[in-house]
Amino acid sequence: MTTIHVPVTDAYDVLIERGILGSCGARIKELVKASTCAIVTDDNVDRLYSQPLTETLEAAGFRVVKFVFPHGEASKCADTLLKIYSFLCQNDITRGDCLIALGGGVVGDLTGYAAASYLRGLPYVQIPTSLLAQVDSSVGGKTAIDLPEGKNLVGAFYQPKAVFCDPDTLRTLPREFLIDGMGEVVKYGMIADAKLFELLCQCDLSNVQEHFDEIIPACVGIKRDVVAEDEHDTGLRMILNFGHTIGHAIEAYYHYETYTHGCAVGAGMCLMTQYTGTEEEYQRLCDCCKRYELPTDTDAPIADLLPLCGHDKKRLGGSIRYITCSPVGTAHIETASIDEFRHLFER
Ligand code: NAD
Repeated sequence: MTTIHVPVTDAYDVLIERGILGSCGARIKELVKASTCAIVTDDNVDRLYSQPLTETLEAAGFRVVKFVFPHGEASKCADTLLKIYSFLCQNDITRGDCLIALGGGVVGDLTGYAAASYLRGLPYVQIPTSLLAQVDSSVGGKTAIDLPEGKNLVGAFYQPKAVFCDPDTLRTLPREFLIDGMGEVVKYGMIADAKLFELLCQCDLSNVQEHFDEIIPACVGIKRDVVAEDEHDTGLRMILNFGHTIGHAIEAYYHYETYTHGCAVGAGMCLMTQYTGTEEEYQRLCDCCKRYELPTDTDAPIADLLPLCGHDKKRLGGSIRYITCSPVGTAHIETASIDEFRHLFER
């Protein structure tokens, strides 16, 4: 088992081990005084993983109740949140009990926010089952729901008591979500770990699962280092947005219908490196992205993307912040005026 300690205000461990989903009950019992665990999950993950989790929790002496909602981003909304609150009321969940987020980033963000807000906060545990959730969203304490006006607009920083990460669950993850998560994995190599990037350049979608025991701890370690230094996202955490400034613009240009987030980040990283890195860095990144079926470019004209970059949350007054990674394995936070940013792409 790999244990990664996350030294934030309410410190916790990320425990990574194949099979841990079916054996984490006793460890959760040591962490929380709860008598009841309320599992929150989506319908896909419920079918696959609720039973082994329920069994290990019951074996550890917990009463177990479960709330299941339809999978997908559309469920990460106020309506589902209200249903979770009602479910918790109806099942007499108190501050002494524990919520368990079993699923991908949607489940994690929603359950985390329910835990942060219900009864002004109760303990919760993350059991991420998608690649994106294992390497990114389950660590760092960002919880949120979407509003009709935009994503992640209501939320809180609220740390879990622990994260139990079981790479075996990724065997059932649909291919499109594996590709999506690989966008973030490649990003970690680019921003902080040349060795990880090298490993990714030697694998592809057909065999990368065999290396998850190495890849997932490497990514979680990087995320831990960043959030430990910038718990509340006021500085360094921005480097996690490499590829996202243009990536978000690509997603918006296509009305969130053509590119998944990870694919947009892939194209965003390549475009950024094309204009700010060396030719060799750009070619290596493109080659790496292609191995995971991540796009390296977009048909959307740069001129149409640039105004959309201005809507990104990293925009400060008249200027924009973006991340460059040259050489590979290092990240630099750059600030430019919108005009300077535009000129970058006219080279
Ligand atoms: P998701 O939770 O919708 O999961 C993707 C799909 O995979 C779903 O259909 C789900 O049912 C299915 N699934 C999950 N695990 C599975 C498994 N092991 N086997 C089979 N199917 C499985 O989406 P996601 O990509 O995991 O997460 C995206 C969300 O994460 C977004 O809402 C995003 O805003 C959020 N996010 C949060 C943070 C953060 O720091 N909190 C960071 C990045 C992204």
